[in-house]
Parts: sequence; C-alpha cells; structure tokens
Amino acid sequence: MTLANLRDLYQQVILERYKKPKHRGVTAPVHRLQRGHNPSCGDTIELTVQLNEAGDRIEDVKFEGEGCAIAMASADLMAEAMRGKSTDEALEMVQRFQSMMQGNAEFPTEQRKLNVMQGVSQFPVRIKCATLTWHTLKAALESSNEPQPVGFVSNE
Ligand code: ZN
Repeated sequence: MTLANLRDLYQQVILERYKKPKHRGVTAPVHRLQRGHNPSCGDTIELTVQLNEAGDRIEDVKFEGEGCAIAMASADLMAEAMRGKSTDEALEMVQRFQSMMQGNAEFPTEQRKLNVMQGVSQFPVRIKCATLTWHTLKAALESSNEPQPVGFVSNE
C-alpha cells in the first residue's frame, strides 16, 4: 500500500466517524462534565465521563458538540479508546496523543485505531481540531468530583 493510499484510508476512517459517530450522547450518570472550544476553527465539544465507584477508572465517555470532521472524529475515537482505562492511563494517552501530533509518537497495537489521526500532524492548522477533545478530557479528569457549572477550556 502506498503512502497516498494509506492517507486516503485514514481520511475515510475520519469521515466515517464524523458521519456515524458511535459515542455521541451523554453518559448516565455524569461524573464529569467539561466543555471545550477551539476558537481557531470554531469546534465546540461537551464531554461527559462516567467513572467507577473509586473514581479512578473510566467506565464511559460520551461527547456532544459541533465542529469539523477532524474534531468530531477525534472525539469519537478518543471516547472509544478511554473505556475501561484508569485515569492515570488516560492522562498518559492524552500526552501520547499530543506527542503524536508533533510527529514524535504513535499508539501501540491495542490502541492503533488512534493512529488514524496521525496524518493530521502534517497539517499544523488542524492539530488544534484533533487535540481539542483530548485537552477537554484532561480538564474533565483533573476537575473536582462535583459536576458544577463549568466554563469552556480553550486550547488557544
Ligand atoms: Zn476543526
């Protein structure tokens, strides 16, 4: 498979996720609620997170929001990848994703679906679209237990 074909394949996965997201909605119950906004493109996202009883493992992540295909596909893929992860693992994955956007890392086999976003690193103006949901998750996990009126995190 040539590099160009591979890039097409990645684009197809991103478009498919955008059109038919698997993790849109709101978790029940909501243990974390965080909004994120990417002013450079206009993407907005609202993440809800359901944690286990101890509060150290992610049971479910869902998202709502409006934005470009890259932002929405990234949110859907992230939500999927986060299920069952400890909060420490989740924060590590946030870091890895950011490194991947700088061209310095990729995900191991069991999380390889996330590597479809790798191509975005070649388009610096779109990197913020891809990382928005990850920034937002990080803010959600680092916030207090009580869902409370929250502002937007911005990645500007
Ligand atoms: Zn965008």
